[in-house]
Amino acid sequence: MIKTTTLTPKLVKPKSAKPKLAKPRSAKSWPATLRLGQVISLLFIMACHAGYAAEHAIILQYHQINPTLSSDTSVTPEQFQAHVDYLKANKFNVLPLEYIIERLRQKKTLPEKAVAITFDDAHHSIYKHAFPTLKQHDWPFTIFVTIKSVDANSRSFLSWEQLREMGQYGATIANHSISHDYLIRRSHQASYQDWQAKVIAEITQAESRIEAETGQSHRLFAYPYGEYSAELLTIVEKLEFTGLGQHSGPIGYNSNFLTLPRFPVSGVFAELKSFAIKLASRPMPVINKTFRDNHGNTLTTHVLPHDVVKPVLELQLSGSNTQLSQLNCFASGENAIPIFIADLHEGKIRTQSTQDIGIGRSRYNCTLPTGEAGSYYWFSQPWIRLARDSKWQAN
Ligand SMILES: [Zn+2]
Repeated sequence: MIKTTTLTPKLVKPKSAKPKLAKPRSAKSWPATLRLGQVISLLFIMACHAGYAAEHAIILQYHQINPTLSSDTSVTPEQFQAHVDYLKANKFNVLPLEYIIERLRQKKTLPEKAVAITFDDAHHSIYKHAFPTLKQHDWPFTIFVTIKSVDANSRSFLSWEQLREMGQYGATIANHSISHDYLIRRSHQASYQDWQAKVIAEITQAESRIEAETGQSHRLFAYPYGEYSAELLTIVEKLEFTGLGQHSGPIGYNSNFLTLPRFPVSGVFAELKSFAIKLASRPMPVINKTFRDNHGNTLTTHVLPHDVVKPVLELQLSGSNTQLSQLNCFASGENAIPIFIADLHEGKIRTQSTQDIGIGRSRYNCTLPTGEAGSYYWFSQPWIRLARDSKWQAN
């Protein structure tokens, strides 16, 4: 049995009445937005996989589909089509995100090769360049909507009308806040209570609005910029939402459902070879993780004081550890970083960047061969390092 990680914040259940938002649909009921063809496809998948055997799935994360713009957050229509063709040719099962999450949360198996496709920010290009091919394949997908962008009535973003239309074809409309602000960042002027009230409003008002406009409420929240803190996770848990980040990795039975990883597949990550490796990945069997500073002191959170420039990540992995010597870890902007096997028998390793990590967001990614050709266990640890004279505080 896998234990919870040492970093799971001690979350306290709310004493007040539960929020008035609608409950998420149970995994037993099909998403109401699925049209008949998709329900039949899902039933067919279930029939073909009577023994549903997988305990993991992959969530892909896109932003824009853009023929001209090349950036970390965009793919070209040709790249997107190549991804669709790859999923089709290799018999991946594209399933609704909320279905995958509920199955795994309840420790119920999924078909092998289960994948969810997600888009952040509600760019108009989704409608133009992704929706036609997704509709053609009867594949569900999820759009994490920033309310302010949709309400702007800009040609760059989707309209509520388009979101409703895509909802009819199996799109899950989910929550990416009202404003897309940096939610974890509290200015020195704001009180903790003010910050808390603002964050609650960002999440609950966005969910209410999505429900009013589309009839959907799945309580899936994608953190703007993938940034979360222990305090934000407490709020998301109290509100009974699932939280999704932007650090990479597959999801499984033992994932933290407040910080589910997704594989960004835009920009340099759109290349088919790396796309295939991500799709074949499995969750790293991490049973414990600890953060330390250079002096060996334990850090309670991945939001780092300014002077912690080379955070130490300690992991304990379960299962056979004979492959531990094949573990690789990488830091943002750096190639492989050193790994120290602290205890082979206990599966304990320690890794640390050799260069200072930057201010703001960065990551350590670790991979370990599963033993199957081309398949790796994958783990990603996000960091957020504060600036020296930060204009905000981490609560
Ligand atoms: Zn976003």
